[in-house]
Amino acid sequence: QNLKSTIYRGAILRIILLGAPGAGKGTQATFIKQHFNIPQISTGDMLRAAVKAGTPLGLEAKSFMDSGGLVPDAVIIGMVNERIKEADCANGFLFDGFPRTVAQAQALDKLLTLKKTDIAIVLALDVTEKELINRLLNRGKTSGRSDDTNEDVIKKRFTVYTNETSPVAD
Ligand code: ADP
Repeated sequence: QNLKSTIYRGAILRIILLGAPGAGKGTQATFIKQHFNIPQISTGDMLRAAVKAGTPLGLEAKSFMDSGGLVPDAVIIGMVNERIKEADCANGFLFDGFPRTVAQAQALDKLLTLKKTDIAIVLALDVTEKELINRLLNRGKTSGRSDDTNEDVIKKRFTVYTNETSPVAD
């Protein structure tokens, strides 16, 4: 309902979706982007596409992703900066999986300040760790994502989330 009143006030919907791996960011993003007709910017999807295409960015990102660690901030910030310049982002966008570190959040603040604009809404999805592990292992059976089949890699992603990403919400 709050999202609806925001759009009815004519605000440009720049939205951030926060949540641990497996919390359902991608699932909710699908609903939100359709409802408001804004593009979903998933850094994870963009990185997987780059890995698949074998681009220099993909080659750089792959080892970090396979281990459950984060791709370096400079790589991510450069990628997002290019993406939000595209025409389809003029009326808003939905970030899914970004910003994932305080440094990324600060860089985003700078980018948006330069454009004299701001984030309208931050939504945080809160799910227990037990449920997250179940969901990720289930997703791993069908997603083709190697980082979802290995419990050690999943646990590493939670540790990274707790240390690096949860401070972003504050
Ligand atoms: P999940 O939320 O299930 O971990 P994502 O698709 O968001 O999945 O991310 C998969 C991997 O891509 C992460 O484990 C990380 O290595 C990399 N990644 C995605 N987004 C970022 C980001 N904003 N900063 C750094 N690394 C990222």
